Amino acid sequence: MERPHNFSAGPCILPLEVFEKASQSVIDLDGSGLSVLEISHRSSAFVEVMEKARSLALEHLNLENKGYKALFMQGGASMQFLMTAYNLLETKAGYLDTGTWASNAIKEARHFGDAEVVASSKESNYNFIPKNFSIPKGLDYLHCTSNNTIYGTQMKTFPNSEETPLICDMSSDIFSREIDFSQFGLIYAGAQKNMGPAGATLVVVKEDILGKISRQIPSMMNYEVFIKKESMFNTPPVFSVYVSMLTLEWLSRNGGISAIEKKNRAKSELIYSEIDRNSLFEGFTAKEDRSMMNATFTLKDDKLAPKFDELWKSANINGLNGHRSVGGYRASMYNALSIESVEVLVDVMKHFENTI
Ligand SMILES: *Cc1c(COP(=O)(O)O)cnc(C)c1O
Repeated sequence: MERPHNFSAGPCILPLEVFEKASQSVIDLDGSGLSVLEISHRSSAFVEVMEKARSLALEHLNLENKGYKALFMQGGASMQFLMTAYNLLETKAGYLDTGTWASNAIKEARHFGDAEVVASSKESNYNFIPKNFSIPKGLDYLHCTSNNTIYGTQMKTFPNSEETPLICDMSSDIFSREIDFSQFGLIYAGAQKNMGPAGATLVVVKEDILGKISRQIPSMMNYEVFIKKESMFNTPPVFSVYVSMLTLEWLSRNGGISAIEKKNRAKSELIYSEIDRNSLFEGFTAKEDRSMMNATFTLKDDKLAPKFDELWKSANINGLNGHRSVGGYRASMYNALSIESVEVLVDVMKHFENTI
């Protein structure tokens, strides 16, 4: 059977060769005769996996020897909504409210202090990225979301927050495009969108922003504990870390972020130019803020939905339904999705227009 063209928003497509290697290793990790799932996380074989995953993450982000540590944690990006505040919010932090995930982060931070909304696009159902706002003085940090997975907007530039550490939720576009990652004090990303299976969360933190608040932090919530224990304070999510390592190796073999960005750009240009050309569809977001990862679009005439749905499903396309808060369609085009899959979708949209 041919694999479907998988546009799922998350969990989502990973490289087939990663799935193949991972499935082998569930039976026999590198000829050891043991499954990656049955060895001690303290064994040298697994410690090597963890170290490789952490160092590859820093290497791809070009953050080696710059005072950053890469950590693998549990609890998803949603746990980071509160952990960032737990570790860094003394009195007041600033937040860019650019979508559901950003607003969830604000909610969690308010357990720990004042989380001020510095700018928001909520009034227009988050269909653009706010710009030209000023950053208040005296913030403990400024939090932003680089890619708004549900709405399909993406930050192209980041606020120059000077002495205020910038924290970024990069769950749905990490390792997809070149950014000066050294402008961030902390980056976090749930694994399940561009890196691996759900279960692990990558945190990349500049060590010198930590240790500045007065509250006591429980060990499981404390970045400094995880740094000291090299992501092995307790049993890490071994399979998710292992597969993340395989994906990061795949990224290295394929030219790293700069090469994958070119492919991602080509894929997104293909779909957006069809959305704009095709008389039956319209894009959901402001054009200048369109995401390279998640393209959101709707039918101008909702009544045509059953017919279009039938067409894309019969073309072996999976996961194109939009999120309930936007409706319509969302084509998620993460790193592992081939341009051929986007071509199939574009052909379906063209064919649909011709048959209406
Ligand atoms: C998916 C997603 C989350 C939530 O991730 P979990 O790992 O399920 O908690 C948070 N932020 C963004 C930008 C996401 O895309």
